[in-house]
Amino acid sequence: MTRPQDIIRPDVLGMTSYPVPDATGLVKLDAMENPFTLPEALATELGERLAGVALNRYPAPRPAALIEKLKRVMGAPAGSTVLLGNGSDEIISMIAVACAKPGAKLLAPVPGFVMYQMSAKFAQLEFVGVPHRPDLTLDTDAMLAAIAEHAPAIVYLAYPNNPTGTLYPDADIERIIAAATKSLVVIDEAYQPFAQKSWLSRVLQFDNVVVMRTVSKLGLAGIRLGYLVGSPAWLDELDKVRPPYNINVLTQAAAEFMLDHVEDVLEVQAARLRAERETLAQAIAALPGTTVFPSAGNFLLVRVPDADAVFETLLAARVLIKNVGKMHPLLTDCVRLTVGTPEENAQMLAALKLILK
Ligand SMILES: *Cc1c(COP(=O)(O)O)cnc(C)c1O
Repeated sequence: MTRPQDIIRPDVLGMTSYPVPDATGLVKLDAMENPFTLPEALATELGERLAGVALNRYPAPRPAALIEKLKRVMGAPAGSTVLLGNGSDEIISMIAVACAKPGAKLLAPVPGFVMYQMSAKFAQLEFVGVPHRPDLTLDTDAMLAAIAEHAPAIVYLAYPNNPTGTLYPDADIERIIAAATKSLVVIDEAYQPFAQKSWLSRVLQFDNVVVMRTVSKLGLAGIRLGYLVGSPAWLDELDKVRPPYNINVLTQAAAEFMLDHVEDVLEVQAARLRAERETLAQAIAALPGTTVFPSAGNFLLVRVPDADAVFETLLAARVLIKNVGKMHPLLTDCVRLTVGTPEENAQMLAALKLILK
């Protein structure tokens, strides 16, 4: 008799699936989604476009028109190439798989984006987490020491970081890139629409840097499209571990359509969220017992007197947030709040006032 536990890797048997809470009926402020929907006329036009898509055909493996448009709209430098992923998540897996030599390591500041560590586990790379300083800024000296000690194959820098919201100083990133002579440095710009800062234009100035982006936080989380920008030398190798038809035809069509509306729709929504972020940060900072960390994302990390109690109080008020208090010792009693619509933010604030008084 064949039993799964005899076949599946012991470390996989010990894992749990990525938890996604059911948000039915809740104000969903836990996952950094853009809360705004498309204008109705645009949604109708998109529907017509999608109706014309040939669902019977496999998607193009490297859709040239989409890639060219993406490069133009997002400002990728001439000479760079683009690798598409089913969300950045898939790109993160591809990078780990392609670099997983025996003994290879993946290094990132912690607390950070959980997918970096998960990709290391799945591909059996050793994960090296370098703690931030207690104020959640980057400990650049510790990063440099860890890079010298471990010579990691991969270094992740989220710009800005999730869940802290920190935008690392460019000078610190330059030092890390210069020190990581045996590494591929992946700058993850998932929150670029809210940070409005980018390394994209500089990506070809270094032989060890690639820049990762996604359309998820810009308002298209549902279509699952991430992209990696860099030199052909890197991307042609990574492309070899990409599942051949990883971007489905509906995603390709929706992305091509929406790339024509980044400036008039999606960037306008992002600007509203940036303004809301500041309003919300001030309102929360005025509540007793809170520390709001500076954020360049569409979310706020807030330390409260009791994160579990805050989470439960908000849930009872039908507002779902992310309790990150147990994720890392540096995040004790912290919650992460996605910036929503003005109405959603008001509802969250009212619920916070029930417990923080
Ligand atoms: C949300 C997020 C992503 C995006 O992942 P997708 O798979 O593209 O949705 C990537 N990196 C960080 C740091 C994030 O917070």
